[in-house]
Amino acid sequence: MLGDQLNHAHSWYDSTDPDTLYLVVELLQETAYVRHHVQKLCAFFAAMAAFADGLREHGHAVLHLTLDQSSRYRDLPELILALCERYQVETFEYQAPDEYRLRRQLREFDMPTGVARQEYDSEHFLLPQSEFESWIKPGRHNRLESFYRRMRKRLDLLMDGDQPRGGQWNYDHDNRNKLKPADLAEIPPPRLFANDVGDIVERLERHGVDHFGRVMSELPWPVDRDQALELLDYFVATCLPRFGRFQDAMTARHEHAWSLYHSRLSFALNSKLLHPREVVDAAITAFDADDSAIDIAQVEGFVRQVIGWREYVRAVYWVNMPAYAERNQLDARRDLPAFFWTGETRMNCMRHALGQSLDWAYAHHIQRLMITGNFCLLAGIAPDQVDAWYLGIYVDAIEWVEMPNTRGMSQFADGGLIATKPYCAGGNYINKMSDYCGGCHYDVRAKTGERACPFNSLYWDFMLRHRERLATNPRIGVMYRNWDRQDEEVRSATLARARDCIDNLEKL
Ligand SMILES: Cc1cc2nc3c(=O)[nH]c(=O)nc-3n(C[C@H](O)[C@H](O)[C@H](O)COP(=O)(O)OP(=O)(O)OC[C@H]3O[C@@H](n4cnc5c(N)ncnc54)[C@H](O)[C@@H]3O)c2cc1C
Repeated sequence: MLGDQLNHAHSWYDSTDPDTLYLVVELLQETAYVRHHVQKLCAFFAAMAAFADGLREHGHAVLHLTLDQSSRYRDLPELILALCERYQVETFEYQAPDEYRLRRQLREFDMPTGVARQEYDSEHFLLPQSEFESWIKPGRHNRLESFYRRMRKRLDLLMDGDQPRGGQWNYDHDNRNKLKPADLAEIPPPRLFANDVGDIVERLERHGVDHFGRVMSELPWPVDRDQALELLDYFVATCLPRFGRFQDAMTARHEHAWSLYHSRLSFALNSKLLHPREVVDAAITAFDADDSAIDIAQVEGFVRQVIGWREYVRAVYWVNMPAYAERNQLDARRDLPAFFWTGETRMNCMRHALGQSLDWAYAHHIQRLMITGNFCLLAGIAPDQVDAWYLGIYVDAIEWVEMPNTRGMSQFADGGLIATKPYCAGGNYINKMSDYCGGCHYDVRAKTGERACPFNSLYWDFMLRHRERLATNPRIGVMYRNWDRQDEEVRSATLARARDCIDNLEKL
């Protein structure tokens, strides 16, 4: 089992078989395909160890290798070949990896003569891979909303017959509140765990694994099924009642600003400690039990993320790989600024979004999309570098979900396979959705001059760089008419400020 295949309910484990040996292994190759946040490495390694223990307790034979035992093998195939010989293996069986890179590796290496290879489904996702092509057409945009409605009907979730409960499919417009000062007092503390990962950190050091981010000897992320279920219960009871309402909100003025009402279930889901169906069922059961405490907009917003977005990006990834990983439609080529690795920038919004990512290996969706992602998009950062950063820093980052969100939704490098228009915005949007701009070195109202918010001029620079492509988009065209109406002097001063920002990206 790979680190993201910790599905205790897999049919493999229905019965015990003394002739089956399960292999759970920490691999150097999995620490090194990008530079990783230390909490991501620790979360996966700790969850794998707990999973191996759980299998043993249920009577299965398990070989759990740490880096101390596995590091002398060059890669996963070399290790498997050695084990096939040592244990006289007749059949090598594995669950289909969700990442293209690993699936290819496991399918393609040469097996020793006489050893069979067999691939199994991971029994986790709600839409089987065999149906992808009838839901998502490769090489073109497929609407999330249509996908989502089909999933709602198929799974019979939040439905009254064939109609959506509450009369609407989507309550997105109710989910855009800013946090007012009175709301801040009510932000709940996040449910954190205190998993001892001191030995894993030592092991990473011993094997020279390159990592970054805040090292914690007590990891706050859930690493076994009990903890994952506890986090799910906590979310449903404490955060779900306001999940949708403050889903897009951002604040710097609270010690729990990094977690707000988000579930932080993505690691538990992506490592498969939790099944998506049980997660949405828990939310809907709580809604059914008391719809005066949790209204439909909150629960629908959550269900849409899990059965809509999560399954949708996976299908888009698989029908478009491997070409997807090469897409750079906007020809973005600049280097990622060094402050992405340190959080040291005078842009308050970026300092907060980066700082909390370095502290917790976590940022919520709008921070990823409209702060850090938006900055990279406007500044024209090469998508390979943006992808590598997102893949390394977040505890939940696995390529099948990271790449469509980053390269697609946030960088528009796929030319619109995920989003119909780039998610680009100036400081105004950030100011509307957060209180970041209040204490900033830069002036969010200014477009020109050296204290002007960099997002403002970079926004126009981006728009003009891609005018030919974007002007015909009905959702964007109007912006160009606004630009054309502006005074020539203001326009050239705005572009001069953008040039200054680009030339001094590292110093922003
Ligand atoms: C640039 C960028 C990169 C991202 N990279 C990842 C990634 O590597 N891994 C990842 O799991 N998510 C990624 N996302 C999606 C989303 O930001 C995270 O799923 C979410 O922030 C995880 O926090 P949470 O569990 O508190 O989510 P909540 O806000 O509580 O949402 C509930 C669940 O819905 C699912 N979900 C929500 N939005 C999405 C989405 N757009 N795509 C897929 N699933 C979604 C997740 O499983 C999440 O746990 C990315 C988004 C952007 C814009």
